[in-house]
Amino acid sequence: MADAKRILLFGPQGSGKGTQGEKLSEWLKLPLIVTGNIFRHNIKEQTELGVLAKGYINKGELVPDAVTNRMIGERITQEDCAQGFILDGFPRNLVQADALDTYVKITDLMHISIPDDEAVRRIANRRTCVDQGHVYHLVYNPPKQEGICDEDGSALEQRKDDTEESLKKRLGIYHSETEPILDHYRPYGVIHDIDGIASIEEVWQTVQASLQ
Ligand code: AMP
Repeated sequence: MADAKRILLFGPQGSGKGTQGEKLSEWLKLPLIVTGNIFRHNIKEQTELGVLAKGYINKGELVPDAVTNRMIGERITQEDCAQGFILDGFPRNLVQADALDTYVKITDLMHISIPDDEAVRRIANRRTCVDQGHVYHLVYNPPKQEGICDEDGSALEQRKDDTEESLKKRLGIYHSETEPILDHYRPYGVIHDIDGIASIEEVWQTVQASLQ
């Protein structure tokens, strides 16, 4: 499909990828694939994948590439991705970026940046719904009813890996392993640089404008 959009959401923890991803998915009517949510769902269901991923996630480390690449390869080749998809949380290193290139050609990479100290502040106030991983911020994007997800009515929780210690480790991995992938994508001319410090609505306007 010539005009299929295959979009990557790229940025550090707390940059707003999840929030913008939900908006993009609704706007473009494309599936939103969030690697962290797939892992958390599998952990909850105690699948083989979940049991394997749990130790890495709880330590704030990346799940091994072979496992993650296979999981994404299987997901993005499903029927509902034929018109495109939005990917949040993958690729996170060069090995994953190379694997993705063997499956599909990415059309847009939304690079949302915020400084680390802002990431730490935002994550402290982040709450996530236990069923589908919808994201809230207690101040900037609170749920209508405290502790309950607006979308599916499930409970909101603070993720176990959203502690300051785990976050610092994950931000470290982001800077050392994930950020360098930008150089891999630069020659493709697909990168949109977006300032994630603005309000949710302002960032959304920029995201929309850059895709039109
Ligand atoms: P996130 O919800 O994106 O912050 O991801 C939560 C955790 O899931 C990460 O800290 C990793 O342990 C794991 N994870 C998510 N995406 C990936 C990926 N592409 N490669 C390896 N591990 C991942």
